[in-house]
Amino acid sequence: MAKTTSDQTFVREINLSSVLRLIHTQSPISRAQIAVLTGLNKSTISSLVDELLAQKLIHETGSNSGAAGRPATWLEINPEAGLIIGVELGVDFISVAVTDLLGNIIWRKKEDADPADGQEKVLAQTLRIVKDAMDVNRKKGGYFFGLGLSTPGTVDLDQGLLIFAPNLHWHDVPFRKIFHEHTNLRIFIENDANAAAIAEHLFGAARQTQNFVFVFAGVGIGGGLFLNGKLYRGRNGYAGEIGHSPIMAEPSQTVCHCGNRGCWETYANQYSIIQRVQARLEVKRNSIIPKMMAEQNAPLSIPLIKQAADLGDQEARESFSEAGHAMGQGFAGLINIFNPEKIILGGPLSIVGEYLLPAIKETIARHALPEIDQQAEVQLSTFGPDASLIGAIAIVVDDVLSKPMNLERR
Ligand SMILES: [Zn+2]
Repeated sequence: MAKTTSDQTFVREINLSSVLRLIHTQSPISRAQIAVLTGLNKSTISSLVDELLAQKLIHETGSNSGAAGRPATWLEINPEAGLIIGVELGVDFISVAVTDLLGNIIWRKKEDADPADGQEKVLAQTLRIVKDAMDVNRKKGGYFFGLGLSTPGTVDLDQGLLIFAPNLHWHDVPFRKIFHEHTNLRIFIENDANAAAIAEHLFGAARQTQNFVFVFAGVGIGGGLFLNGKLYRGRNGYAGEIGHSPIMAEPSQTVCHCGNRGCWETYANQYSIIQRVQARLEVKRNSIIPKMMAEQNAPLSIPLIKQAADLGDQEARESFSEAGHAMGQGFAGLINIFNPEKIILGGPLSIVGEYLLPAIKETIARHALPEIDQQAEVQLSTFGPDASLIGAIAIVVDDVLSKPMNLERR
C-alpha cells in the first residue's frame, strides 16, 4: 500500500525530532555521527539538518579536522532559538525563570508567598512576576516557545487543570486558561515532582538513566517515577503521591494536609524538621538557635536551622538526622518496589541534603533488600531547590524537541 502524505509527514516529524534530540543531548555533533546514531542515510540527515537550520533551532559551529582527515562541521542548539518561561508554584513561594532551549537561566525572580492569602491573591502575584519576565526579555528582542508551570498536587495535563493540591487547599483551577489569557503563550502544566524528574532526565543527573525516582521534598513529599525511560503517570496521572503512603505502623498525632494521619511526609517534610527542633529547644538549652533567632529577629526556618548546623549545633544536626531516618524509610520502600538505578532528592529540603543523606543511606542499608539496595544510588538533584523550576522549563523544551515542525514563537 502506498504511503499517504500524512504518513510521510509523520515519519519526517519523528526523524526531525530524533535528530534535534541528539543535537540537544550530544552537541557538538557532526552530520556523520548523527547518521551513525540514528541509522538514517546521509542525504536524509542532510535534509533534516537543513530544516532545523532554517528554523534557527540549531547552528553550525565551525569545522574541525577529525582523525580521518575530512573536516566535520559541528552542530549545536542555537542559544538564540527562542526562550521559555518556567513558573514554579511552591506552597510558600513563587519562582519564575526565563531560559534558552538548553535550560540556561537568563532571568529569574523568586518571591515568598503566603498560602493563607488565598488563591486569587497568590495567582495575581504569580501573573505579575510572569509579566515582568516577559516585558524584560521582549525588550531584549526575545520570543517565547511557551510557558511551563509546575505545581504541587494532581493535574489533568490535557485540560491544563489543577485537580487538587492538598498543601494549598486548591481545587479545580484552570491554570492553562488563566495563564494563556494573560500571556497569549502556549501553556504546559505538570506536577512539581514529575516536572523535576523530566528535568533530571533531560538536563541533569538522570540523563542516561532509564529507571529512577525523583523525590521532591519541601512542605510535601512528592515523587516522579521514571520507569523504562518514561515518566510513569498511572491510570489517571496521579502516580507518585509517595508522601501520602501510610508508611508508619503507628498513626501519629500529626494530621497530614490530605486529612489523614500516618502519612510519610508528616515525618520527613520541612515542618517535621521545625517541629523536631522546637521539641528539642523546649527541653534543652545548649543550642545556639534561640540566640540566632533573637539576633536575626526571624522565626524558626530550614535556612536558619542549617546555619546552626553549619556552626556545629548538635540539636540542629540531630533534628536533620532524625528527619533523614524518616526519609530513608520511604526511600527503602521505593527501592524495594521499583529497583531503581537512582533515587534523586531535590526540592527546597535539598539545601540541607548534606545533613539528610548520611541518615537516609543508613536507613536504606537497614531496610532495603541488600541485593536491590546495592544497585540504587542516592544522590542530590543537579538543580537542588530549583529542580521543579527547571522542570517547568523542561516540559516546554521536551515539547519543542518532540514537535519541531511548525514551531511558533511569540
Ligand atoms: Zn497525607
